[in-house]
Amino acid sequence: AHPLIDTAPAARLDHARGQSLPDWIALRSGRIPFFPDGVAHPASREEVRQLLDYAREHGVHLIPYGGGTSVTGHVNVVADYPTLTVSLARMDRLVQLDGESGLATFQAGVNGPALEARLAEHGFTLGHYPQSFEYSTLGGWAATRSSGQFSLGYGRIERLVAGMRVETPRGEMVLPPFPASAAGPDLKEVFLGSEGRLGIITEVTVRVTRRPETEYCGGCFFPAFGAGMAAVRELVRRRLLMLRLATAAETGLGLVLSGRPDLVRWLSRYLRLRGVGEERCLLVYAAAGTAKDVALARRETRRVSRRLGGVDLGAAAGGSWYRNRFFLPYLRNTLWEAGYAGDALETAVPWSRAAQLVDQLAKTLDRALNGVGERVHVFTHLSHVYPDGCSIYVTCIFRLAEDPGETLARWRALKRAASQAIVAHGGTISHQHGVGTDHREFLGAEKGPLGLEHLRETGRFFDPAGFMNPGKLF
Ligand SMILES: Cc1cc2nc3c(=O)[nH]c(=O)nc-3n(C[C@H](O)[C@H](O)[C@H](O)COP(=O)(O)OP(=O)(O)OC[C@H]3O[C@@H](n4cnc5c(N)ncnc54)[C@H](O)[C@@H]3O)c2cc1C
Repeated sequence: AHPLIDTAPAARLDHARGQSLPDWIALRSGRIPFFPDGVAHPASREEVRQLLDYAREHGVHLIPYGGGTSVTGHVNVVADYPTLTVSLARMDRLVQLDGESGLATFQAGVNGPALEARLAEHGFTLGHYPQSFEYSTLGGWAATRSSGQFSLGYGRIERLVAGMRVETPRGEMVLPPFPASAAGPDLKEVFLGSEGRLGIITEVTVRVTRRPETEYCGGCFFPAFGAGMAAVRELVRRRLLMLRLATAAETGLGLVLSGRPDLVRWLSRYLRLRGVGEERCLLVYAAAGTAKDVALARRETRRVSRRLGGVDLGAAAGGSWYRNRFFLPYLRNTLWEAGYAGDALETAVPWSRAAQLVDQLAKTLDRALNGVGERVHVFTHLSHVYPDGCSIYVTCIFRLAEDPGETLARWRALKRAASQAIVAHGGTISHQHGVGTDHREFLGAEKGPLGLEHLRETGRFFDPAGFMNPGKLF
């Protein structure tokens, strides 16, 4: 093998799957049909080039690998075919910082904490915080069109990426940063969301901003989901970092998980006195800037909320979300030990369809396992909001079956039912997790036959031999 390729069983197992529920089932049951045959850790663009050439010359499939946090099957080996996984983990340097322009160029394998730490040394932040922040990488974010928790303030990754370098099988694509350009279609868009199908992103130039003086996270309870949505639609144009609205079911779950029943009883009594009953929905909001900016944002939020029947409890209601914002996924381990599987799915729709789709997804998932006599617990929130619509994020919890194959069948039934409901209501098949293997069959519904063929042609253009991450995206 090539000297950069590690064929040790531990490395191959480590890089065999991502973090989706089917990946968990496979890893925990040991039923993993295919592994990569080797894992390479290049440290430079030149080494990435060598590995691409090696894979092409030897007829080997190649899977680019960032942090392996994919939740839609992106990094899995899908066929019994020689496969090389290329991890970008060693490519984590800050290549250049242009402080005057607010542009930072990193190697693509840098993960969230390392990226923010390097920027902090110079007083900057990127502000991209997906819940997988601890492990996911800049290249992975770009390759999956990721969205961070503070996307309302800083923007999604598409807005944050100013330029890129990509090693494709046909050669290198250099996409320089411009503040804006009218020079025809923006070719960055071809690679944002390309999911490792067109090449390996080696460097990314991102738009960074000065670190804010202070950050604040508050919470406000609304008497009903509709009132919360009305508040969000008004607040979305104010200068906030985040607006996250939970349904009554998810709000209730959050209160239980606080582990402080006495406080929750007191809170419930207080909210009832203020006209907020059992259908209460929690809106968590965040603001950043100078102390004055934050005070202004808090005042505005309180004013809008109060008018719509909301009760703002400030940091007492938002602080715990802020402190735990990267830790909630670890509950999947606890749930699993207790005999339950947890999975999340997401979409985005215009405001005019949002309430209906929230409702429809809850109903659809609630009855999706009726056929096998199993209950599904459904918890929903609006995770990212825009002037014209929002994303809908749904967590489902259901019982594990004795047989891992049956658990997988339950997951498939849920996924299919939810995806069909999303497509039927005009939602995108993914707002932030990407397509991978799990959403692939539904991509045509939103791209159309011509759009899908265009994507496939683009794949054939950059990768004529078809060895880049086959079986994903298109
Ligand atoms: C607990 C948890 C929470 C999550 N929360 C969020 C969230 O809040 N927001 C969100 O957007 N996503 C979230 N995700 C999904 C996931 O973290 C994102 O899709 C992330 O962008 C993947 O980054 P990664 O570095 O782990 O990429 P990987 O999982 O390693 O790869 C994902 C895809 O990108 C490709 N890829 C990776 N690096 C490169 C590269 N350098 N060049 C070319 N292709 C590349 C891979 O081939 C693959 O197709 C979450 C996942 C988990 C497990």
